[in-house]
Amino acid sequence: MEKEDLTDTIAAISTPIGEGGIGIVRISGQKALKIADKIFVSLGAKPSAFKTYTIHYGKIVESGNVLDEVILTVMRAPKTYTKEDVVEINCHGGIVALRDVLELVLKNGARLAHSGEFTKRAFLNGRIDLAQAEAVIDIIRAKTDSALRLGLNQLKGGLSGEINKYRESILDILAQLEASIDFPDEEISGADLKHLSDKIEEVSAGLEGLIENSRCARILREGIHLVICGKPNVGKSSLLNALLKEERAIVTPLAGTTRDTIEEVIDIAGIPIRIVDTAGILEPRDLVEKKALMRSRKEIATADLVIILFDGSKRLSKEDTLLIKKLRTKTVIAIINKIDLKQKIERKKILREFKNVIDISAKKSKNIVLLEKMIADLIYGGLVLTESVMVGNLRHIQLIRKAQKNIAQARESLDNKLSLEFIAQDIKESLGFLDELLGKRFSGDLLEKIFSEFCIGK
Ligand code: GDP
Repeated sequence: MEKEDLTDTIAAISTPIGEGGIGIVRISGQKALKIADKIFVSLGAKPSAFKTYTIHYGKIVESGNVLDEVILTVMRAPKTYTKEDVVEINCHGGIVALRDVLELVLKNGARLAHSGEFTKRAFLNGRIDLAQAEAVIDIIRAKTDSALRLGLNQLKGGLSGEINKYRESILDILAQLEASIDFPDEEISGADLKHLSDKIEEVSAGLEGLIENSRCARILREGIHLVICGKPNVGKSSLLNALLKEERAIVTPLAGTTRDTIEEVIDIAGIPIRIVDTAGILEPRDLVEKKALMRSRKEIATADLVIILFDGSKRLSKEDTLLIKKLRTKTVIAIINKIDLKQKIERKKILREFKNVIDISAKKSKNIVLLEKMIADLIYGGLVLTESVMVGNLRHIQLIRKAQKNIAQARESLDNKLSLEFIAQDIKESLGFLDELLGKRFSGDLLEKIFSEFCIGK
């Protein structure tokens, strides 16, 4: 791996580009305070004399010109985000002021930070491990409170703590195995073997538990894809609005208004749900409708969950029957809408076709809460959400899977009385995967991949 240069001082705008109340230029590295001394003017002392974690009012000045009036924060190494000296300059949140201040910082000896480089330094300087660094991006991208909690727990070291616990057990097992390998004359006793086997089983079961929980975590983080379908005028847009609790999709009494798909993200029981309201599946009358029809077919094919709507005030039509047939392989909630009107629909047929059926009135917001509960129950599929450690990152899940596989293999080899060297090899490999997860072992490419997903300034 190319050696990372940690002697540079890096700087970037750490807030979103655009107009805002304030914007922050962040500087990290050995020269951070010196640079601040050169550009910050106040009535008091120079930044290099400021106490750590103090904030100061002053001006950023370049050759006598005031670039901005700012608030400057000094955080001294090692108790900072990067473990280096950090200076943050709160500027007025306009792009020009921020850019000018950043340029001046760069002119005075800093270099522009790469994506995620502040967090990368926190990792390389040993303040956080790789799993924690990856949690930072999950936190920034969280779409719901639950996803945020998941990320925060991982940043706090929830997952790392759990993985470290298994690492310790594995190291113990290895030590015991190696002692026996080094003294082949002293035969390992039956009791010791049993103890070893139990210990391996304990690690194996623990890792298995993490893998099982990962389904839940992925749902919390990435959400699910829910498609609402039904013939024109059954109330798809009205339902979407009831779910969104605000009028966003256009609702009109004319058949076929939803000419295309509309996508929204809502939060049901902490799960981000990407809802797609499809155009009704009907005979396309023009090219626009034909394209819309193709798209809605594709949406249905890739959906995690489909909601089909029926108009309770009408008898089932040919289009309804056609749709029912298309949905036979999917997980479906069938909704009988417009229950505020006189009912004419063949309920028995719907109950025969679908396991999950619910009556609602989208217009009068009746049973919407019940529907939300039904959606949540189906998604979690009996999995109870707990505050326990959950693995939501694909890289982590894959590594835990590999580690678990090797451990399970070691247990089997032990039970089959294979050579201890052989077993130790499997256990070592398992340890390697956990090390990779925590970043105790990493390649430049892996770091590049992980941190390139971050924004500049984080
Ligand atoms: P879409 O074509 O499936 O998106 O249907 P819309 O949501 O545009 O609704 C079509 C018409 O049915 C509108 O006039 C809605 O006000 C009406 N509508 C929707 N849901 C209900 C309901 O629960 N009860 C009644 N009475 N009318 C509804």
